[in-house]
Amino acid sequence: MLNFKTISYAAVAIFCLLLIGEGFLYVSLWWYVLLFLSWFWIVMIGSFSMSWGLFLKAFTSNSKMEDRKVAITFDDGPNPNYTPKVIQLLKDFDAKATFFCIGKHVEEHPNLLEEIVANGHSVGNHSYSHSTLIGFKSTEAWLVELKDTDQVIFKVIGTKPNLFRPPYGVTTPHLAKALKVTGHVVIGWNIRPFDKALKNPEMILNMILKSIKPGSVILLHDTHEHIGTVLEQLLQFLKKHKYQMVTINELMNDH
Ligand SMILES: [Zn+2]
Repeated sequence: MLNFKTISYAAVAIFCLLLIGEGFLYVSLWWYVLLFLSWFWIVMIGSFSMSWGLFLKAFTSNSKMEDRKVAITFDDGPNPNYTPKVIQLLKDFDAKATFFCIGKHVEEHPNLLEEIVANGHSVGNHSYSHSTLIGFKSTEAWLVELKDTDQVIFKVIGTKPNLFRPPYGVTTPHLAKALKVTGHVVIGWNIRPFDKALKNPEMILNMILKSIKPGSVILLHDTHEHIGTVLEQLLQFLKKHKYQMVTINELMNDH
């Protein structure tokens, strides 16, 4: 697994080698530019790829899983237009899931969170604001996002979530520092069908089905009009192929 410190130390080491090399032969300035750009791009791409583990360790799937178990996850809710339908479908197929809720949405619809928990699903923290520029927040600002959401969830269900999923899957050194304080387990995914952006349920479903295997973590959103169609067909497929749909905690702890 890549690590931010290792990459940065390696970049500094190569920089020093180039400086030493200058004593013996001509080193073009472009080598320094290339070195900086390589470091920059690795860090940029790594901040969007939780499976790289550049800034923090995240659970993205259970690759050791042999039983046919998968975790379906829903981000950005609860949403009064779509979450009830999702809960009903999960119930119909005897499936358990994990909902990564936005703090301000929980505040607006506490009854939906109660319903999620009453149906045996897990709940995770997905920040309080989910603002577009959340990736640029300081450690202190991240701590407010994390703690406010924990508090809002605690008020409704009486426990604080132990799981956190970063909005947009973006991780930074500031977020990593904040998470060291709060102790949340960071959850990513290994199947992302872009269900919010794609308008074609069949396309979304195909993206999931071509990658699914025991131990998979599927990222969906209970915030758009196609979720009912996609989820129903996905659950039918999983049932037909004898998969069990479990919470993230069960998938993580099952070897
Ligand atoms: Zn989100």
